Amino acid sequence: MTVIDLESYEDALATYDPVMGLEVHVELGTKTKMFCGCSTELKQDANSQTCPVCLGLPGALPVVNEIGVESAIKIGLALNCEIAEWCRFARKNYFYPDMPKNFQTSQYDEPIAFDGYLDVQLEDGEIFRVQIERAHMEEDTGKSTHVGGATGRIHGASHSLLDYNRAGIPLIEIVTKPIEGAGARAPEVAKAYVAELRELIKALGVSEARMEMGQMRCDVNLSLRPHGREAFGTRSETKNVNSLRSVERAARFEIQRHAAVLNSGGTIVQETRHFHEEDGSTTAGRIKDNAEDYRYFPEPDLVPVAPARDWVEELRRGLPELPRLRRARLKEEWGVSEHDMQSILNAGAVDLIVATAEAGAPADQARKWWMGELARNANETGRALDELGVTPGQVARVAELVAKGDLNDKLARQVLEGVLAGEGDPDAVVEKRGLKVVSDEGALSTAVDEAIAANAAIADKIRGGKVAAAGALVGAVMKATRGQADAARVRELILEKLGVEG
Ligand SMILES: [Zn+2]
Repeated sequence: MTVIDLESYEDALATYDPVMGLEVHVELGTKTKMFCGCSTELKQDANSQTCPVCLGLPGALPVVNEIGVESAIKIGLALNCEIAEWCRFARKNYFYPDMPKNFQTSQYDEPIAFDGYLDVQLEDGEIFRVQIERAHMEEDTGKSTHVGGATGRIHGASHSLLDYNRAGIPLIEIVTKPIEGAGARAPEVAKAYVAELRELIKALGVSEARMEMGQMRCDVNLSLRPHGREAFGTRSETKNVNSLRSVERAARFEIQRHAAVLNSGGTIVQETRHFHEEDGSTTAGRIKDNAEDYRYFPEPDLVPVAPARDWVEELRRGLPELPRLRRARLKEEWGVSEHDMQSILNAGAVDLIVATAEAGAPADQARKWWMGELARNANETGRALDELGVTPGQVARVAELVAKGDLNDKLARQVLEGVLAGEGDPDAVVEKRGLKVVSDEGALSTAVDEAIAANAAIADKIRGGKVAAAGALVGAVMKATRGQADAARVRELILEKLGVEG
């Protein structure tokens, strides 16, 4: 492995302005492929979902998937783009074994959507507008597996296997205009943009946009130019970055690498780069071709796409509430600060809290459990909240048991712990672990009497009017009942018995 020199981030920014271009590929959730009727539901058996069209057999004729076009228009509209009145597909010619036609059906100078923007919110609440160049339709390639080598890479492999199940799956590629002026915040802008785009795609219902499953991936183009200069520097293109954190790290690494190369008098090579999760570095891929090398030409086998204006307007009217506006509304409804809303968003808890509230819990309770106990567990186990195996319905049930007085907070935490451990629904955990609040007044009364007797000095203080001291007695009773008493009721009893008004 070659050692790559890096400039310190601060020094890099002291000399240069980063300019980024982000290209995001989104795999659409259509039932069938973009140009044939093959299923997109990837099965285990390689090449089981193929036909003459997606295998590129001679004479096979493609047909455009209407839902694919509709999804592209929805994305374009949500990104404030113009929708083309007429556009064509184009052949992007290059040879690669996982692309059986030897060209990718894409769009070139006639994208279906163009000239839009997406406002993204940075961590301090500032809004940064990212201009969108275009969103176009294309198809995915197949998948190569290199066998026989130690690394799984083609180098050292004895042979390669090809699976064309993925070939022809519809993709939308969304390309930004050059993102300038972000300065030191460029990596943060990149991450926030991809995060916002992912929320948008999910809200539109056109894809689940799961980055870890490759349903959404980002190419990070980056170049540096000295402060005050207009012309862009040479860019590198870090390919297929597949998590939000990695997008940020890749941008940051490339800023530091470019600066080191430029400062040492070197030149940046226009190339693709591979991103490495382990250490956040990038390494050289292939020298990047220019568009003319692909010999694009209009696809003669497909009719042009000319979406009727009334259809476009109907789709516009049907757009869901956009994520940023929805977040603003929820922030208002929940009465939380900008900072708290940002934490909820970063934790991926917005939809979970909404779903928990829909399942019957007050929103503040839903928020409390997801952002408290469950977020802590997610952090500790390195998982996302929606991967914990706890459902909004279960959290709502815990909140309900607390509201009914069957559980106190401490017991509720133990119930969630049980649910997390796979012990079943909240009620089953309560049953199995015997986690009911002691509501038997007789038993409570005895425990309170004992606590008062054992803490006579404190009891005297309370009698003397120092009501705040009751906390110590409540603590003693809670301890004696192993946390299974209703603390509020215990406090009432203590004050009652000592003849003090709460
Ligand atoms: Zn097919």
